[in-house]
Amino acid sequence: MLRWEDRLDAVHDARRRPQIATRTIVRAVVVMFLSRRGSLNALEQTKPSSFWRGWLGQAMPSADSIGRICGLMDVADVRALSHQVYSRLKRMKALEPPGHGLMEAVVDGHETTASRRRCCPECCQRILHTQAGDVVEYYHRYAVLRLVGQGLSLMLDAEPVRPGEDELAASRRLVERALEMYPRAFDVVAGDALYANTEWFKFIIAQGKHALAVLKDNRPNLVQDARILFEVLPASMDESIGHLRRRCWDSDGFTSWPEMATQVRVVRSLETRTVRRQLDKREEELTSDWLWVTTLPKPRASTQAVVHMGHDRWTIENQGFNELVNRWHADHVYKHQPTALLVFFLFALLCLNVFIAFYCRNLKPAVRRLVSMLHMAQLIAAELYTAIRDGPSRAPT
Ligand SMILES: [Zn+2]
Repeated sequence: MLRWEDRLDAVHDARRRPQIATRTIVRAVVVMFLSRRGSLNALEQTKPSSFWRGWLGQAMPSADSIGRICGLMDVADVRALSHQVYSRLKRMKALEPPGHGLMEAVVDGHETTASRRRCCPECCQRILHTQAGDVVEYYHRYAVLRLVGQGLSLMLDAEPVRPGEDELAASRRLVERALEMYPRAFDVVAGDALYANTEWFKFIIAQGKHALAVLKDNRPNLVQDARILFEVLPASMDESIGHLRRRCWDSDGFTSWPEMATQVRVVRSLETRTVRRQLDKREEELTSDWLWVTTLPKPRASTQAVVHMGHDRWTIENQGFNELVNRWHADHVYKHQPTALLVFFLFALLCLNVFIAFYCRNLKPAVRRLVSMLHMAQLIAAELYTAIRDGPSRAPT
């Protein structure tokens, strides 16, 4: 089987006298994500499958029971599952840094649900100004940490943004926990322009890590000084990769972020990409102009390394969140209760990690355990499909 049973079965919940074992719920939820059912009701429709009695040792619980018990689950136990995947990949040397030698952890915010009607005690709120007047919208948002290695990246952890606080506060708790759970996993913490924040940079430096952030108008003096200097400074790197040309400027002596006691480094990348337009097949040049601010010293990270790490930040949005939402149904509200929302989101991250690890080209033969896990998941999906197609739950036609 998945050879995962011990860890899956080690998850606890807060019930005193459970009628349904926690392991039953965990196993059902893992299968729901791995086989991409997308909702508890869709999962419940596979109930007649003979698979369930073998995998759970009993009939599948109702959708209501699964949702309710996930709301009582020990979140630390669920996080430990992701740590196990990380440790295994690390031991197999499948999670190595890219050529520049630095492991990057990317932190970013992700909103999973927004509603004007449904709310819970941990919902964040905002006022929407509509034509019919102001209305309150309730939403849940998570700070998410992703580890970027060579050809493989993992969603390490997530932390809810609490009502009344900003994303940076949640990200701080997230990184503090990551430093305990994964102390040597990363060297650099990268984020979007929100993270070009004095308290944030100081916090990251105090942890013995380096900070990297997109530089935008929220630090106007620094942006202005960088633009002026880079007009006269010769480019420090000029490279062409296929249809992409990249000219970069790099200087580490900026004092125009005075709240930072030390000088900071700014890297600019002016990128021109030639694309052929679909409509008339004419070639068109697209230009993007990037600025990053970082505490990384030049001897530790070349211009190219900073540019690559800066761009890797986008993989959290382009690959990570899109994958999570489109393939893994991470934004679905399985049960609107704070713990349940977090537990389901963490399970979605976990299943995405397993999926990414499986498709990673660098995997060595020793990764058979993981491979067998996904293979198993595919078999499960196939088995569930078969049950739906041939089983008694089929709707009469
Ligand atoms: Zn809520």
